Amino acid sequence: MIAFVDLKAQYTSIRSEVDAAIQAVLASCQFTLGSEVAAFEQEFAAYCDSTHGVGVNTGTSALHLALLAAGIGPGDEVITVPFTFVATVSAIDYTGARPVFVDIDPISYTMDVHAVEAAITPHTRAIVPVHLYGQVADMDPILAIARRHGLIVIEDACQAHGAHYKGRRAGSMGDLGCFSFYPGKNLGACGEAGMVVTDRPDYARTLRMLRDWGAETKYHHVLRGYNFRMEAIQGAVLRVKLRRLEAWTEARRALAARYDDGLRACGVATPRVMAYARHVFHIYAIRCAERQQWQDALSARGIQTGIHYPTPVHLLPAFADLGYQVGQFPHAEQAAREVLSLPMYAELSPSQCDEVIDAVAALVLQDSRPARLAA
Ligand SMILES: *Cc1c(COP(=O)(O)O)cnc(C)c1O
Repeated sequence: MIAFVDLKAQYTSIRSEVDAAIQAVLASCQFTLGSEVAAFEQEFAAYCDSTHGVGVNTGTSALHLALLAAGIGPGDEVITVPFTFVATVSAIDYTGARPVFVDIDPISYTMDVHAVEAAITPHTRAIVPVHLYGQVADMDPILAIARRHGLIVIEDACQAHGAHYKGRRAGSMGDLGCFSFYPGKNLGACGEAGMVVTDRPDYARTLRMLRDWGAETKYHHVLRGYNFRMEAIQGAVLRVKLRRLEAWTEARRALAARYDDGLRACGVATPRVMAYARHVFHIYAIRCAERQQWQDALSARGIQTGIHYPTPVHLLPAFADLGYQVGQFPHAEQAAREVLSLPMYAELSPSQCDEVIDAVAALVLQDSRPARLAA
C-alpha cells in the first residue's frame, strides 16, 4: 500500500527529539503560549523573512485574526478565489465581511490577476491570494493593484511553508501572511496550530491581544478577543520539525521532478511550476478527464490519492447564499473536476514514486487504446 500521506514515517524518523520536546513541556507545566511558542514564533518568522510571528491555534484562526487586525468587518468585501480549502472563505465570513470570488489561472491554479480589478467595488478592503498546492500566487500584479486601490493583502500561505516568489518568501510579501501547521501540512504540529507573520509591529500587537481575549494586560480586555492561543507542545514540536523543513522540502521537490519525468513521458498533464516560483509541493496534482476511473484503478493497486478540492467554494451548499452560479468561474470548476493528487511526502521512496508512475502510465495506455483501435 502507498499512502497519500504517511505521518508515521515522519514521526518515526525524529521520534526521540519530538518525545524529548514534549516531555520538556510536560515537565515545565507551561502548557499554553510560553517560551517554546515565543521561540518558535521568532524562528518561523525569521524563516519567512518576516519581522513578527504570532502563534495561534489553527490556520483558520490565523486568517480570521489577520483580517480582524487589518480592520476588516461587516460591510466590507474581500476578494479571494473559489478554488481553495473552505477555511479561506470561512475566515472572511467570520469577520462579517463578504467573500467576493475571482477565477483562477488554469495553469498555476492561483488567483487570475487579470480578473481582480473588475471585482473591486467601493466596499473592497482586502485581497486574499491563496498559494495553492505550495506555489505562490503571482504577487507583484496583486500587490500593484492593492497599492493602486488602497487595499490590504493577506496571503493564505497555509500550503506554502518555504515557497518563494522571485526570491521572496511566502507570507512576507503581503501586509500579513497566514500559515497552518495542521498535521498534514508541509510543517505539521502534533495537533492543531497556525501563525500570522507580518512586518508591522502594530498588527503584531493587535494579533497578540486578539488571540488572548483581547487583553492588553491580564484581565484588562481592550478588544473583543478570542481564545486562539497556541499550545506549548505544538510550539516545541514545531521547533524540532522546522530544523528539518528545508530538507523535507527538497525531498518533495526531488519527488516532484521524478513524477514530472516519468509522467510527462507518457503524456500526463503534470503541475506547471511558474518561472517566478519555488514550488514546495504540498500537493502534487495531475489532471485527468476520467478522474473517478483513475482514482479507483489506483486504489485497486493500493495507491491512495486525494482531490483538492472536488467542489469550488462558490458551489458549496454552505455558501449558497452568496448567490454564485455554476459557470461563473469556469477554470476553478474545471480544475475541481479534473485534479488528482498523488502521494507526496518527504519519506515517499523513489521506488514507491516509480510504482505510482507505472500505475498512472498503465491508465494512460488503457485510455488511449480504444482511440487507437478506432483510428
Ligand atoms: C489548511 C488550510 C487552511 C486552514 O488551516 P487549519 O489549520 O486547518 O485551520 C486554510 N487555507 C488553506 C489553503 C489550507 O490549506
